[in-house]
This record gives sequence, C-alpha cells and structure tokens, in this order.
Amino acid sequence: MPIDTKNKSPIKPPKMRQFGSSLFILLTLLLLLNFIVPSFSGPQYPQAPYSEFIAQVQQGNVERAIIGSDRIQYVLNPENVYGSDIDKVFTTTPVALDLDLPKILRENNVEFAAPPPDKNAWIGTLLSWVIPPLIFFGIWGFFMRRQGGGVLTVGKSKARIFSEGVTGVKFSDVAGVDEAKTELEEIVDFLKNADKYTRLGAKIPKGALLVGPPGTGKTLLAKAIAGEAGVPFFSISGSEFIELFVGVGAARVRDLFEQAKKQSPCIVFIDELDALGKSRGGANGFMGGNDEREQTLNQLLTEMDGFDANTGVIIIAATNRPEVLDPALRRPGRFDRQIVVDRPDKIGREAILRVHSRNVKLTEDVDLGIVAVRTPGFAGADLANLVNEAALLAARQNRDGVTLADFNEAIERLVAGLEKRSRVLNETEKKTVAYHEVGHAIVGALMPGTGRVEKISVVPRGVGALGYTIQMPEEDRFLMIEDEIRGRIATLLGGRSAEEIIFGKVSTGASDDIQKTTELAERAVTLYGMSDKLGPIAFEKMQQQFIPGYGNSRRDVSSEVAKVIDTEVKHMVDNAHHIALSILYKNRKLLEETAMELLEKEILEGEKLREKLQQAIAPEELEEWLRTGQLSDDIVLMQTKI
Ligand code: ADP
Ligand code: MG
Ligand code: ZN
Repeated sequence: MPIDTKNKSPIKPPKMRQFGSSLFILLTLLLLLNFIVPSFSGPQYPQAPYSEFIAQVQQGNVERAIIGSDRIQYVLNPENVYGSDIDKVFTTTPVALDLDLPKILRENNVEFAAPPPDKNAWIGTLLSWVIPPLIFFGIWGFFMRRQGGGVLTVGKSKARIFSEGVTGVKFSDVAGVDEAKTELEEIVDFLKNADKYTRLGAKIPKGALLVGPPGTGKTLLAKAIAGEAGVPFFSISGSEFIELFVGVGAARVRDLFEQAKKQSPCIVFIDELDALGKSRGGANGFMGGNDEREQTLNQLLTEMDGFDANTGVIIIAATNRPEVLDPALRRPGRFDRQIVVDRPDKIGREAILRVHSRNVKLTEDVDLGIVAVRTPGFAGADLANLVNEAALLAARQNRDGVTLADFNEAIERLVAGLEKRSRVLNETEKKTVAYHEVGHAIVGALMPGTGRVEKISVVPRGVGALGYTIQMPEEDRFLMIEDEIRGRIATLLGGRSAEEIIFGKVSTGASDDIQKTTELAERAVTLYGMSDKLGPIAFEKMQQQFIPGYGNSRRDVSSEVAKVIDTEVKHMVDNAHHIALSILYKNRKLLEETAMELLEKEILEGEKLREKLQQAIAPEELEEWLRTGQLSDDIVLMQTKI
C-alpha cells in the first residue's frame, strides 16, 4: 500500500482501475479508427478546378463522370488526350447547387452516375451509434469513481482513504497551546511504548477529541502526534463521510478502520467530527441526510467499540462545536478525552509568531512581543497569515527585512481590509466620516477597558469601511465588566453622536455601529443578566441551539416579559447615546479641531493622537452612569431635547 507518499493519495482498489484503463484504450482505438477510415477510400487523382471540368465537358472531352455530393470524378476521352492511363482521371469539387450540371452533361453525351455506396460506410454508422454511449459510460464511470460511492457497487471497493504517511510535523512546530501539548504527549508515549502500559494491564485510550475554534492548530496537533511518534497518519473529514447514498459513509468507516488496523500503530484523524456526530433528532432532516449520518455514526461507534484498545490505533477527532456532538461519542471508551485547544494568549501568540517567522528575515526594530499585544483574538492560523502578509509587504517594497511597520500594516489589513484609495468620497462625505471617526475616538478615550485609541483614518478600507478607528487593548481580556459593556456601547454610538451634533442630521454610515450596539445591549440584558428589572435570568438560549431560519433563539417568555426586555435594551442604548452626546458637547472644540486635522492628514496615530485625546474632559454624570447604568431624570429630559 502506498503509505509513504507525503501527499494525499487515494488508494484505489485495483479491479476498478483495470476496468477504467481498458475502457480508455478501447475508446482511443475507436476514435483513431474513425479518423483513419475516410483516408482509405480509393486512390488519389489530380484535382482540377470546377470551371476546368465544365470546359472539358463542353468541349466534348469527358467520357464518364461520377457525381458525388462533395466530389466529382471524371474520365477524359482517351482519343482526345495524351498521356498515361492515370492522367486521364481527374477529380474536382462541385460547386454547390449547380442545378444545370445534369443538363450540360446530357447535352454533351457524358455518361454519368452517382458514386457506389461506400464500402466502409457501415463503420461510420456503427461508430456514430457506438461511440456516444461509450463516451457517456466512460464519463459516468469516471465520476462514480471520483465520488467514491456508487449506485451499483456500494461498499468496500468504493471507499477512499487518505493516508499521509509520516507527517514530519513536530511538537516544536505548534506553539501557544502548552496544556494541550502536555496532554497529547501522553498519547505519543502510548504509541511509542505501548508495552509499558499493556504490561501492567492498563488500557490505552482509544480516542481524543480536540475542541477549539477554527485555526487554533487542531489539525496541526494531530499531525504532530503522528510525527513525534513516527507513525502513519490517516485523515478524513467528517463531511466527507456524508454521502447522498445511504450506506456509503458506513462502508467508508469500516474500510478506514480496516486500513488503519493493518498499519498500526497509527493515528486516525477525523476532522469536523460534528458533521458526522451531530446529536440525533436535530432539525436537519433534509434529503435523507439524517439517515445517512445516523448509519455512519453508528458504524463509527461500532468500530470504536469493536477493536481492541491495544491494537495501537488511536483516533483523534477535531471539532469546533462540541456541544452539538452526540453524547454517545463522548462515552468512556470512545472519545473519552477532551482536549481544549483555545485561542492563544499574548505569550502564546508571541511563541506562534516566533515559530512562523523562523524563516523570515526581521529587522532589528521588530519586537514580536509588541506584535502579540496588538493581535488579541488572533488564532494560530491568523498569525501565520500575518507573518506572511508582513513579509509580502516588505518584499514588495524591496526591503532587506520585515519591519515593525510592515507588521502594523499587515494587522490593519487583516482587521479592516485593503486600503481602497480608489473609493473617492465627495467633500460632505469626507467631512461626515472625519467627524464620525473622531467622535468614536473621543468617547472611546474616556471609557474604561476599551483600550487605547491607536489610530483614526479616513482612508477607505475593505468592503465597506469609509473610515475607521483602531483601539488596542493593553492586555488580553476574558471578561467584560458591566461598566465596560456600557462604555463599549457609548463608544460605538460616538460616531453617530458626532454627526448629530455637528450636522444636526445623521448619515447611513452608522448602521454597522448600531447593529453592534443593539446586539451588545441585548446580550447584556438577556444573557448576562445585567438588567436590574429582569435580574439574572437567561432569556436567550445559548448560541448553538439556534439554527438560522428555524425560529427564535429566545426562550418562550410571556408578552409582558418580552416588553420589559425590549424597554430595558432600549433604556440601555438610550442612556449610552445620551452619554456619548454629552461627552461630545463638552469637548466640541476638541472634536472640531481633531476632525479638521484628520481631514487634512487623512490619518492620525500614535503619540500625537494620544496627547490630543488626553485633553478630553469627562462630563459630571459619566462616573455615576458607568457605575449604575442610570442617569438622573433631568439629564434624561435634556437628552430628549437634542
Ligand atoms: P484547525 O485545524 O484548528 O482549524 P489548523 O491546524 O488547520 O487549524 O491550522 C492552520 C494553520 O495555522 C497551521 O497549518 C499552522 O500553520 C497555523 N497554526 C495554527 N495554530 C498554530 C499553533 N498553535 N502554532 C503554530 N502554528 C499554528
Ligand atoms: Mg483543521
Ligand atoms: Zn462608526
């Protein structure tokens, strides 16, 4: 079995392959025959122009002629012509629709006839009947084979397994997930020194489930286990099991395990396990997909139970949605070990950046620690991408090494998209965008936990952003405290509030801010229990149960409670809006100055911007609002007057 290939090599059963190639040869032969046949029909005679032929006829030199639809062959009268036998026969190509020809021939006493039926014509007929169906079957067979499952031969011969041989990935290639690595080192030891455990009667675990968001290195870790232990790596994705034809997935599972057992010790990696192991009875029963999934899942469970734990086959599965997995999968003896692979923290990010810049030339000024600070929330895959983007930028500028500025620009690209200077705004639009962004920045500067304002820009970027404000947290945050949520909402509304104050009207530019504001306020009320009126009751079902288009994610509540939820959300947003307005009123001069400067320079950043924003003065009610979320009544009245 070709296990040593590094690339994915589907192992095809030999019988199918033979059939495929003989069919191919047959087709080629038939096609060749088709081209060769016409050139066998009769000897070649000199070709004469049609006008010459007519002239010869009219001079009475032509004895006989065979008139075909695309060829006329004629014989000159030997009495009138000199030369050898062969020279007496000519061919010409008839001019279409010369209806006078028979008349001219008759007038000049030429003996004429239609050509005899082609002796080889039957081949043409045969080919035109035989070849199209053959081609059809050929293509059909090809697709059937590619799909790996068929109507006629469901089962073993169609199963396709990916073996990647020995991966060569080491634990040192994976960074920032130290806890997961420690747990997985145990598995490497099982694979390497199985005796040590079996000797004492201990059972080697059959499976481990890697759980974590996309791009955090789950696949990489699985490969690293195989690489460290030096064993073959089999990989298949859960979604590949799900076929249109019921039963194919189960056959694949069976085959996968058969192959793996022959190669043991080895790692079988099942990616996207959730595609396969979704809890039964979910709301996804379209197109018989459920039946198929259930059968495949059952087969997987059977296989996992069926083989002896000490055969040395260890199954690693990965998912980013553990909550939808069928509980049966998590029973002891199956995927009993769950290993969380989370997004890396600051130190982890720095380590990952170091791994990926091993082969990248960095200049002196690059401190990967600073880059790590500026990339909260980035997963391993994002960081790998970031290093590459930065290197590309440096290469494009023909620099000798990658600079910190390249990293900063790359971060902005990944967060906000490419610069779009081609998107030209008119004067009013530009002004609106400038005030809007400065509004975010000033409000943001006074709020707790929202991070430093690093940069404001009116250069359009990405899909929809006309301008943007970048805030960088000083540290990783895992929780948001009540006042920070309020602060975040007010900051989001800062852009629109600035437009209201300066222009007395609003633009469409704040729609994204409003969307985020509403979502955040709603979550605060319905999920985090931050409303005093409603208390710590969850009104929102947790995300995973929510299937778009399949009804509401909100718990069933009485209409009175629904009304209170709505007023509480509105109350929260209104108060934050008022605070944003009040901050910008108080700092109107700063707002105007900064916006003017931004219009002129297009980008404000760094120390200069920070100094400017430090001048912002907090209104009196800010502190109390942050603490309680409430405003005193007369202030609320003032808000309605705006
Ligand atoms: P997942 O399977 O969790 O979605 P992958 O393992 O496919 O993520 O990660 C994709 C790529 O991102 C990897 O090939 C690697 O280059 C990079 N990467 C992700 N996580 C890490 C990490 N922890 N350390 C180093 N590189 C990582
Ligand atoms: Mg993956
Ligand atoms: Zn905005």
